[in-house]
Amino acid sequence: MSEHYQHRARKRFGQNFLHDAGVIHRILRSIHARQGERLLEIGPGQGALTEGLLGSGAQLDVIELDLDLIPILQHKFGQLPNFRLNQGDALKFDFRKLDAEPHSLRVVGNLPYNISTPLIFHLLSHADLIRDMHFMLQKEVVERLAAEPGGGDWGRLSIMVQYHCRVEHLFNVGPGAFNPPPKVDSAIVRLVPHEVLPHPAKDAAMLERVVREAFNQRRKTLRNTLKGLLDSAAIEAAGVDGSLRPEQLDLAAFVRLADQLVATGPSS
Ligand code: SAM
Repeated sequence: MSEHYQHRARKRFGQNFLHDAGVIHRILRSIHARQGERLLEIGPGQGALTEGLLGSGAQLDVIELDLDLIPILQHKFGQLPNFRLNQGDALKFDFRKLDAEPHSLRVVGNLPYNISTPLIFHLLSHADLIRDMHFMLQKEVVERLAAEPGGGDWGRLSIMVQYHCRVEHLFNVGPGAFNPPPKVDSAIVRLVPHEVLPHPAKDAAMLERVVREAFNQRRKTLRNTLKGLLDSAAIEAAGVDGSLRPEQLDLAAFVRLADQLVATGPSS
């Protein structure tokens, strides 16, 4: 293949390729990959991050959906013994088949913004395999991931991700670092799955349910939004003030509500 092959960025694959060497270095420094580690890059594109990741000597799997990028990646990196190319959809990828030790996999990606939230939830379902994750995301999404209770950014995404992970908003990246430039600002986030959950729920699916229901109408009081699940007495038994709005509750309080629901069953 010619070195001069030009790939046209495709919108439907969320392709905004990093070209700012300073930003690429800063991301690689934050990840700080080392020899012997297991890395997984989602959406390597034309390899802007891939090259530096491979240079660390770590073992790197990449998952790329766009068939046109496969020969480009193969041509650039295929001869390196620490590189393995997987073609497919990261949303459907079975991370267990990578055969990684528990808490070992370091996941990296300048993610296609249209799939970033479902992809994070898909990865969280394999949180026991993962040591950490470094993602480039839309800045607003990073602000929601890292949010604290009490503000408008605190919601289902913050709570469910913080249930599983420690979240660090590392730095922001402007549109000029990409080709083509996206219409939004971006940011790098680090997610580190807890080895021991700080607030374990009796049933994580129940926590999901309570949080989804509570934030369906975030302006209403908990007593109102949770009416179909927990009555006032059950909310009080969980040690929660039913006159509060969902965004005023921290993770520990949502876990208490979910545990109460497990104990009493849904209110009728
Ligand atoms: N990492 C490259 C960079 O920083 O220049 C490319 C980033 S670009 C924002 C997102 C990449 O993810 C593209 O290469 C795109 O083809 C790929 N992609 C999109 N949807 C995907 C999916 N469902 N599974 C795996 N890769 C996907």
